[in-house]
Amino acid sequence: MSRKKRIRASGPGRCWDVAVVGAGPAGAAAAERLARGGAQVVLLERYALPRRKVCGGGLVARAAAAMTVDIRPAVEWICRRVEMTMGPRPLRFMAEREDAVIVMVERACLDHLLVEEARRRGAEVRPCCPVTGMRIDDGSVALKIPGGFVRARWVVCADGAGGRLARMAGWADTRRLVPALECSLHLPPWRFRRFSRAAGFDFGALPRGYGWRFPKAGRLDIGVVSMQPRSGNLKHFLWRYLKRLGLADAPVCDLRAAPIPVAMHTGELASGRVLLVGDAAGLADPLTAEGISHAVRSGRLAADALLETGLDAGRVVPLYHRRMQNAILGELGLARFFARLVFGHPRAAERLFRLRGQHFVEGVTDIACGRSTYRSLLQNPLNYLRLLRPLP
Ligand SMILES: Cc1cc2nc3c(=O)[nH]c(=O)nc-3n(C[C@H](O)[C@H](O)[C@H](O)COP(=O)(O)OP(=O)(O)OC[C@H]3O[C@@H](n4cnc5c(N)ncnc54)[C@H](O)[C@@H]3O)c2cc1C
Repeated sequence: MSRKKRIRASGPGRCWDVAVVGAGPAGAAAAERLARGGAQVVLLERYALPRRKVCGGGLVARAAAAMTVDIRPAVEWICRRVEMTMGPRPLRFMAEREDAVIVMVERACLDHLLVEEARRRGAEVRPCCPVTGMRIDDGSVALKIPGGFVRARWVVCADGAGGRLARMAGWADTRRLVPALECSLHLPPWRFRRFSRAAGFDFGALPRGYGWRFPKAGRLDIGVVSMQPRSGNLKHFLWRYLKRLGLADAPVCDLRAAPIPVAMHTGELASGRVLLVGDAAGLADPLTAEGISHAVRSGRLAADALLETGLDAGRVVPLYHRRMQNAILGELGLARFFARLVFGHPRAAERLFRLRGQHFVEGVTDIACGRSTYRSLLQNPLNYLRLLRPLP
């Protein structure tokens, strides 16, 4: 008997308003808002919770401010300073704010806080519950889980970069997944101090990519991301980066790799009875690879579209598209413009950095803090003039 038939054969059972698949920030945010809005919602996660997630854990201030829970238990370090370098003989720029620019969080803990908030609001949370099949009928969706199925009127697909649910629902995977590799270094205090004051981003640490150095509680996390899907040997670039930082002799532990989707699905982000959010939709920033803020935002926008239309089949999808376009997709398009410049034309980017690197760093820092957007950076003619005007 085919898998599809088995799903149908196992009977209708309870029909939830919404099944959210994936208990990362996108899924937890969607489930929390849906439950708070009175929807009957079930959150399905394939792993036991709290689960581990490979991530730099750099939560930009705008994402931290948007959290509806007290995230302090997850916070490991606070960076009020951002340092960026560009090129092989690096040009160095620094931006500082009075408040946090990037809050370093322990991802398992942050995600667990968000899931527990969803549970507290009334969502049913089911860990160890991988979805392995999907069948969309006229009025509902059946999700295959171990020992049976879950039926819901709508599905929010929040299963992350490696998720397969969108494909099960009929999407071709047109996201651009790029590889990232990170590790932890436990340094003696005198050595850690040098890296402890700033979150560092080193463009030029590898071709068409960048390296990051994030201070955490009692350790330094170092990572590299290549913006090319086939990047060659990322391990080699990580060692080269460690050498460049003067850390080649430091003991490295917990080497971990995972993909980041830095370009979204080219088609619709919602179709039939399925809405894509977070990494499942491919919403990480193509310049910074930062993905948590758009994950949370898209999860909430999906929930709002469902709640505001009363789950109306004809209205949910267009409303979600409209909201996503206004809130996220336009910004991602502009971020891609900057990413093409920085990663695709490194010489031109270096020249621009030489002229106006400080403005770029200040601008990106303001975006991280939620005080600016890529749109306002590009729309404000003064910024063009500043970019073009030679330094005094
Ligand atoms: C190395 C690395 C460093 C990064 N650093 C940063 C950073 O510093 N700051 C930042 O903002 N972003 C960073 N990101 C990106 C960020 O981690 C993601 O954008 C973010 O986690 C997306 O959240 P999500 O909820 O969409 O997906 P996820 O957090 O990946 O959650 C998806 C969930 O779905 C579950 N799932 C998958 N398939 C199924 C299934 N079939 N059934 C049930 N459950 C399923 C998974 O187990 C998982 O729990 C980094 C990513 C990587 C790889």
